[in-house]
Amino acid sequence: MIFDTHTHIYLWDLVDREVEILDNMKSAWISKITSIWIDIPSSFQSVELASKYDFVYASIWIHPNDTYLYEWKLDETIAKLEEIYLKNIDKIVAIWECGFDFFRTSEENLEHTKQEQEKFFRAQIALAQKYDLALVVHTRNAKDDTLRVLMETWCKKFILHCFSEDLDFAYKALYYSDECKISFSGIVTYPNAINVARVASRIPLDKILVETDCPYLAPQKKRWQTNEPAYASYVLAKIIDLREEEPEIIKSQIWKNSLEIFWIKE
Ligand SMILES: [Zn+2]
Repeated sequence: MIFDTHTHIYLWDLVDREVEILDNMKSAWISKITSIWIDIPSSFQSVELASKYDFVYASIWIHPNDTYLYEWKLDETIAKLEEIYLKNIDKIVAIWECGFDFFRTSEENLEHTKQEQEKFFRAQIALAQKYDLALVVHTRNAKDDTLRVLMETWCKKFILHCFSEDLDFAYKALYYSDECKISFSGIVTYPNAINVARVASRIPLDKILVETDCPYLAPQKKRWQTNEPAYASYVLAKIIDLREEEPEIIKSQIWKNSLEIFWIKE
């Protein structure tokens, strides 16, 4: 059984193919998914979808790239997220994807963007800590700031999602928190992602999760196609290739890791 811990099944044409992609997913032994949505209105949709299917879990979310939209109403926004959570405690398993993204930030905007994203990051951490929810961390061109904020807030229960950094960063995060998990996407299957493959082969097995981040980042065998939850099996296959443990042990440990971080009972 495989748990695709990060899907955006409302994006692109996936939303019109809901039944088909959920069927494909079952055929590929993907037993559970977490659906990640992009803002306050779609967080509601996420919960709706999760209520429809017992193998779908929801997240509530404000992406670092979107914090500017809520810049002037931080408290109100966090209160809204909290309200959504409290009404749907049994379906919401995480606060997603918090952190920093400086990928498209120009030099002159860097300070302002950093401050704004940090305010949201800290507020979302506080919300996750209040309810002991997993915090899914998105970090792009911002390794040091991400670790700094996690450490300053004593945030321990987090997932480094769509991991694309190096071994040094992975070790620092794992050394800081024994609750940290590292989630690998299709990136680990790309021939030029040597650093990411090295991380997947070296870190302890009980720290690993798999995800698709669909519709983005289709694994190498499906490259340039629309990604979907079924393709999480390629990510897992690559991790099995990279590691020395028996395939069955890898599979069942990664499944266990996913249930554990989201507090899901089998
Ligand atoms: Zn994502």
